[in-house]
Amino acid sequence: MRVAVVDCLATGSTGRRLSSVDVIGSGPRLVVGILKKLGAEPHLVECERVLSSGADVLKGFDVLMVSGMSSDIRSAFMVLRKWRGRGPSIAGGPMCVEYRDLLKLGFSAVVWGEAEISLPALVRALDSGDFRGVPNLIFEENGRLVANFALGYAEEPLLWSFEPDTESVRSYRYFWACRVYVEVVRGCSNFYRTTIPIKVPEVVECARCGICRFGELESRISCPLGIPPGCGYCLVPRLYGPARSRPTDRIVKEVAELIELGATRVVLSAPDILDYGRDWLVKPSPLTDPRQPPANLDALEKLLSSVTSIPEFKKREVYLMVENVKPNLVTDEVARVLGRYLKGTTVNIGLETGDNEHHVRLGRPSTIEEVLRAVKLLRECGLKPYVYAIYGLPGESWRTVRSTIKVLKKATKLGAERVILYKFRPLRGSAFEGYPPPSSRDRKALTLKKFVDTLEISFKKKLVGKTVRIAVADAYGENTYIGYTLPHGPVALLKSGDDLRNKIVDAVVLEVKRRKVVCSPVT
Ligand code: SF4
Repeated sequence: MRVAVVDCLATGSTGRRLSSVDVIGSGPRLVVGILKKLGAEPHLVECERVLSSGADVLKGFDVLMVSGMSSDIRSAFMVLRKWRGRGPSIAGGPMCVEYRDLLKLGFSAVVWGEAEISLPALVRALDSGDFRGVPNLIFEENGRLVANFALGYAEEPLLWSFEPDTESVRSYRYFWACRVYVEVVRGCSNFYRTTIPIKVPEVVECARCGICRFGELESRISCPLGIPPGCGYCLVPRLYGPARSRPTDRIVKEVAELIELGATRVVLSAPDILDYGRDWLVKPSPLTDPRQPPANLDALEKLLSSVTSIPEFKKREVYLMVENVKPNLVTDEVARVLGRYLKGTTVNIGLETGDNEHHVRLGRPSTIEEVLRAVKLLRECGLKPYVYAIYGLPGESWRTVRSTIKVLKKATKLGAERVILYKFRPLRGSAFEGYPPPSSRDRKALTLKKFVDTLEISFKKKLVGKTVRIAVADAYGENTYIGYTLPHGPVALLKSGDDLRNKIVDAVVLEVKRRKVVCSPVT
């Protein structure tokens, strides 16, 4: 069975990546790895290639599988049109929460949550054409929606019994210059809930029974009132469950193979890298507490030292990075361990709102003081903290906006490398599903945006005159090249009469243009 696995992640409504252009997620490679082990013949294809190539790249496949986020539905639909109903079409990844729309658009079925739970039975069902026994598969039968939801989340031995396919990384253009994500933790330990009333399927307000904050770890999995776990705007704990850590040796093996294939930038991917190994401390209970136990320093140290001891790391220029940390888990010792292995790289810290009461009401596990402390400690240990905020959140007021501005100023003084502001989008299936996104004329949102834009300009101005290292991916018009700042930074344009493609060069930043920097190579 030949399966086309199409990666639509972050392609939005255009079929092309407009942001996160240099990211290669781990999900589609995992799907390929699972399918290979099950005896199918999968082939990974970038969405842009399916849509922009003159040739019919989907020709000769028996099954289409498309992976994307909720915001990528339009791209997924464009891929489906190219498929022209040549065989079953399956949608999956975080966009599974939009299953009604995906089925309406014409997908044969939608995989809910973790691929390991559904794919073994799905591969058998694709032969027989009978989907009824496939767990976590949603489809229509005689005009009726059928969903066989499995109880719980993937557990060992099923979990980690498949390996993401490393060879498939070659399917991505410029993979050698991209940030290749390697899964190290599945799910998130934050099973606190928002205390802002949910509106879907009906209005419900937290009864403050305390189960999700102080109850036994097992009991925190579900709220008696049905309020989804985690921060109100997030879907990770609901879709992917409590934090579970991947064995260190498997991570090391995958990273080694990726480097051998030519990867230059590896990101240890986790909703929170500091959850790594915390679940082992509470086993067999699920890790549903975002604060206790503290970070597992031994596990973290072992992970980072093992990965950086891979001989290939020393042989050539390779960068190791992590994604997010929960600020409340950052201590002096944690910052020192991260600094030892990740100096000069970025780390993401979620502030979301600078108002303590709002922060807690959203379901965040931290306090504002912990966010600021994390910025300071991580900076002191040589990392470059990026602080994230969201505008238009439920519960936002002039007071919360003013506090957010104040806290972002403090974070910048304490060493935040950048501040990134996102617009609130109500994700289907999250606690905030029923809330509207902010209007483009919302004055509170505009005030926050203006403030962050000013900060962003000053952050970028600081880059002018500095020498940065750039992995040059491709030509970009006459005597111009496009590349990615190493280890992580803005997309760079370089002017040069020499052919710089596939090279790593040093360049001086001349000017900053919106999301890009214009540079001149150092000769
Ligand atoms: S379990 Fe539900 S009702 Fe109880 S405190 Fe948590 S969100 Fe509120």
